[in-house]
Amino acid sequence: MAFHSGFVSILGRPNAGKSTLLNALVGQKLAIVSPKPQTTRNRILGILEIPPLKSRPAGQVILIDTPGVHKPDSSLGRTMMAEVRQALAGCHLLLLIVDVTQKFGREDQFALKMAQHSGTPVLLLLNKIDRIPRKDRLLPIIEDYRQRHDFREIIPLSALQGDGFDRLLEAMLANLPEGPRYFPEDQITDQPVRFMVAEIIRQQVVLATSEEVPYATTVVIEEFEEGKKLTRVAATIHCEREGQKRILVGRQGQMLKKIGTAARAEIVRLLGTRVYLELFVKVSPAWRESRAFLEELDWRRQLVDGRH
Ligand code: GDP
Ligand code: MG
Repeated sequence: MAFHSGFVSILGRPNAGKSTLLNALVGQKLAIVSPKPQTTRNRILGILEIPPLKSRPAGQVILIDTPGVHKPDSSLGRTMMAEVRQALAGCHLLLLIVDVTQKFGREDQFALKMAQHSGTPVLLLLNKIDRIPRKDRLLPIIEDYRQRHDFREIIPLSALQGDGFDRLLEAMLANLPEGPRYFPEDQITDQPVRFMVAEIIRQQVVLATSEEVPYATTVVIEEFEEGKKLTRVAATIHCEREGQKRILVGRQGQMLKKIGTAARAEIVRLLGTRVYLELFVKVSPAWRESRAFLEELDWRRQLVDGRH
């Protein structure tokens, strides 16, 4: 029987639910999620092995989650948008995801333009239908989107609750060519474990802080020693100002402790070992504008340079 496969990029404005969808489809938390926009900073690959059903062939879908489409105002923002463009280049299919509870806005328009420019077929996903009490309200929304682009299909879904996934899987396979299995059957991502650990810590920072702090923060793993029973991790949380550092450390170190405890629990779940986690906070003024620092953060580049 035919095997369909290919690369599928998830595109949309910040907070539309891209990372939630990736995690739900793959069935594991590969991308961090938060109610704050611009949580995702890199493109994140999730590999879906799909068994055959009567109505569809078997296949492998390589999903690529991307940072939200926005107008960048820093080097970090520009790097994030470069990640989006790299995800679009050479993929077989796009999933343009919109939040149905919000009006079609400037960033949605921008995401749609990028999709149209790429010339790649697009499935439109109307996300967060769990928040629409009456499904007939969807009809005019679908009609409106139909006017905007010749989408292969328009699929209402809830990334949070898993509604609409069967139809989505079927539509993805139907719009992918026959092709090889690109990754081993049991592989679900290409992210190095230490990057996932850095992201878990960053998620706790994003959840625990507000205003500028989530955006002015990043996490660098300094030491990573994986043993059979115990993993030792030392990480630095970089921020941009003394005031942010004071918030991150908290009174008598309470905030850092809270971040560390929550992150540690999740790292234990990921690795299945005991975890010894040490966190440091450092002020690195204007790191978001430093090309050299941003390159250091990029694990794909670290692999190419052989530094790891
Ligand atoms: P991204 O920026 O596009 O990656 O969006 P996230 O996946 O980080 O989600 C942003 C916020 O929307 C989070 O608070 C999610 O829990 C929420 N969210 C995502 N999908 C759904 C959905 O289907 N229904 C509801 N009610 N909330 C959702
Ligand atoms: Mg995201």
